[in-house]
Amino acid sequence: MKIVQYTPQMANEWNGFVRESKNGTFLFERGFMDYHADRFEDCSLMIYDDEELVALFPANWVSSTQTVYSHQGLTYGGLVLSTGATQQQVLVIVQELLFWYVDYLQAKHMVYKPIPYIYSACASEEDLYALFRANAHLQTRCVSSVVTMSNPLQMRKLRLRGAKKAIDNDLYIDRMTDEDWDTLAAYWELLTQVLEENHSVKPVHTFEEMKLLMSRFPQQIKLFLVRSERRIVAGCVVFITRQVAHIQYIASGEQGKEQGALDLLFRHLINERFKSMAYLDFGVSTEHGGNYLNEGLIFQKEGFGARSVCYDSYELDLSPEIIGQLVPQTVRAQERVKFLDLKRLNASFEPLLTEAVEGVVRSGWYLQGTYVSGFEAHFADYIGAKHCVLCGNGLEALTLILRSLKRLNWWSDDSEVIVPANTFIATILAVKEAGLTPVLCEPSLKDYLMDVKAVERVRTQRTVALLPVHLYGRVCNMTALNAFADEHHLVVVEDAAQAHGAMLGDRHAGHLGHAAAFSFYPAKNLGALGDAGCVTTDDDTLAETIRMMANYGSKEKYVNELPGMNSRTDEIQAAVLDVKLPRLDADNARRRWIARRYIEGIQNPLVVLPSMPRDEREHVFYVFAIRTGYRDQLMSWLKGQGIDTIIHYPIPPHRQQALTELAGQSLPVTEQIHREVLSLPISPVMTDEEVEQVVKAVNGFNAE
Ligand SMILES: *Cc1c(COP(=O)(O)O)cnc(C)c1O
Repeated sequence: MKIVQYTPQMANEWNGFVRESKNGTFLFERGFMDYHADRFEDCSLMIYDDEELVALFPANWVSSTQTVYSHQGLTYGGLVLSTGATQQQVLVIVQELLFWYVDYLQAKHMVYKPIPYIYSACASEEDLYALFRANAHLQTRCVSSVVTMSNPLQMRKLRLRGAKKAIDNDLYIDRMTDEDWDTLAAYWELLTQVLEENHSVKPVHTFEEMKLLMSRFPQQIKLFLVRSERRIVAGCVVFITRQVAHIQYIASGEQGKEQGALDLLFRHLINERFKSMAYLDFGVSTEHGGNYLNEGLIFQKEGFGARSVCYDSYELDLSPEIIGQLVPQTVRAQERVKFLDLKRLNASFEPLLTEAVEGVVRSGWYLQGTYVSGFEAHFADYIGAKHCVLCGNGLEALTLILRSLKRLNWWSDDSEVIVPANTFIATILAVKEAGLTPVLCEPSLKDYLMDVKAVERVRTQRTVALLPVHLYGRVCNMTALNAFADEHHLVVVEDAAQAHGAMLGDRHAGHLGHAAAFSFYPAKNLGALGDAGCVTTDDDTLAETIRMMANYGSKEKYVNELPGMNSRTDEIQAAVLDVKLPRLDADNARRRWIARRYIEGIQNPLVVLPSMPRDEREHVFYVFAIRTGYRDQLMSWLKGQGIDTIIHYPIPPHRQQALTELAGQSLPVTEQIHREVLSLPISPVMTDEEVEQVVKAVNGFNAE
């Protein structure tokens, strides 16, 4: 599913879809008015599935209340769907678009007014079901009265008698001729007077606005009048589409009321003028700014043979947790809970994933092509960084950054880079690979992250850089680390290999230091179908150097300026990543939902849970690591309960055979972490049932 914000260049596609849509019976050719996307430029969405447009969501944005309105200023709003959309598809569409508003607009609320089903070729209440699943509550009741021309209700005797009275009084029907603005002005005066006297409101459109509308749409907007001698005694405006005549601005003065003017007018419109239409719509019957139903009006409209249709508006509080639960997961009870079901994860991107791969196969171009440059642009844009340079993997991304910085800054082999002692070994290997000296610092036991006080303890005159790792997906305290680095003229390089999508304030991980490395290893929050990685940075020179370094040190083929390496992401992986990137925020929200469920649900005195940052966006839960002094027992207990776990990581780097030069240091916090941590399953495709299974199993553990 791909969501694209509407821009005026898409007007043709938009209006074309409206015409063809399931709700089109009503909506088509309303392009000229309510549903023309120009009205919704600020936050209307177009939803694609597999490159095919499947839904439109016209909407307006009110930033002061962070609210999305699906119908601002309209009678009808809601999702415009293609024919044949199933309930499951609608659920997914609603979920995706709600996530879009939350992620991109930081929306907090939505007011949603569905299109009444009477207008659609088949019932279209699937979106209502989605709203109920999203805990929507009723905001306003609304009733609209519609005459189904093929099967109208009987016109009431009272109305027929009124029409007869009108004829007896020599009232007659007239239509305003084009551009007869004097007549329009006279009617607007009557309308304004009637509305003010009876309802204390003014017409929504001023005379000038209505004149402009009618001059622009002479075929679609008509004014019908009832006259006595030559005076206007009643009238209404009709907005005409191919199948619906939409009546608005009905007014009748004293004489018109006494003499049955509207009875005559509507009998004429229904029985004569618009009898070949599908519907005649009398619009809503509310009073006091839409606050109350006007039952009298509803009764009158039904008197003309109309049926009253309910189309209430609903208010949703947009919390990612609730949105995350919109689409029910199929029950898969009693099966093993895998630590990470990559097969299920990737299947959830089908058929897009296979199509992306096939597209590359067919293209005949496999390295350094348009998929790579496309994803680089999209990811840089997502992170907010000026540059994204794709490379072979996360380790090489780190290595390329450090090697290039070393070159550009004339660092020497004994220049020191401070790294957290509890990181994945790649962080440290990269420092070595770049010909620099890694220096370990103890993490905080609270969040397992780099701690500025510990950094201070190991800093020397030779320190040139800090290499904080957003371990397990949680952003380090970059404010403190950057301040420290500024003070001591150090470069800050982020290892963001576990933190795709995490945010500190309004900046993404990957845009919080001088440069950052990402890994797209398949298990990462944004994962390829093989190896890939990238560097993000705002530094032009650094980006250019890295781009050369990754390509044999060359800008131009066979001209090698630097002692480079070969580190690339291939076109297939780039195409795959491009399919997955748009769902990253939604996937992270699901991870957070699971994490929160664990934190709330797991109550076992033997287990220390990770904390949720006050701003939840700081954590994307690549790993949900708990700590316990009974790790081996808990691990085998969970295995017995059908739950797989993993240790991130069992041996600290300074105790690895590969890094003997780091051996022998006293790092008690690091050692405690490595002795006690255990990672519970977490992934965007875990079902609610699986999550509950894990909670129950951990709670059932005791040490005996
Ligand atoms: C995964 C990871 C890397 C290395 O990424 P690869 O793509 O596997 O080379 C580096 N640092 C951290 C913290 C990681 O989790």
